[in-house]
Amino acid sequence: MDIQILDKTFVPYISAEEIQLRLKELALQMTEDFKDEECVFVGVLNGSFMFLSDLIKYYQRPCEISFVKMASYEGLQTTNEVRQLLGLDVDVTGKTVVIVEDIVDTGNTIEVLCELFNRYKIKDLKIITLFHKPEAYTKTITLDYIGFNIPDKFIVGYGLDYNKQGRNIPEVYQIK
Ligand code: 5GP
Repeated sequence: MDIQILDKTFVPYISAEEIQLRLKELALQMTEDFKDEECVFVGVLNGSFMFLSDLIKYYQRPCEISFVKMASYEGLQTTNEVRQLLGLDVDVTGKTVVIVEDIVDTGNTIEVLCELFNRYKIKDLKIITLFHKPEAYTKTITLDYIGFNIPDKFIVGYGLDYNKQGRNIPEVYQIK
């Protein structure tokens, strides 16, 4: 059934069951791939809170978990926007960092995140995103794990918001 959030109508797109099935597959793959790695999973707030908390229940190795927020402020030259990571509370030195994103659209955000994480002395950097819009992507950075490739249409639910609303919906809806 369609739902209404604020002024927009959304149609059912991916069910809660389909999401959980895909998370199990991804976690199993990572359990296999990271058998020799010391991993830190870093969720990017706010969108990834539900994704990371569900995903990690299916991951079958010891790991560390942290959440970060990206903040920007103006540098000394006013045209110069400086980006920084807030909230990283684990020592990532020598470890494999897995950035956990809700959605990669143009790739602008993930590009900045990679740059910020590469300033640390980490062993390796991997990216997992639940959703990816290949048609909108403008970068060459490899996305290591993708939950669902989706068309370039706005989605909401399962952590993703429309004007701050809809993050609590257990399934995903697409704009009508
Ligand atoms: P980027 O274009 O930098 O890859 O994506 C930036 C941000 O735009 C994402 O982290 C997400 O917050 C937001 N975004 C992109 N596409 C969608 C979408 O379809 N739905 C929602 N709710 N947010 C989106």
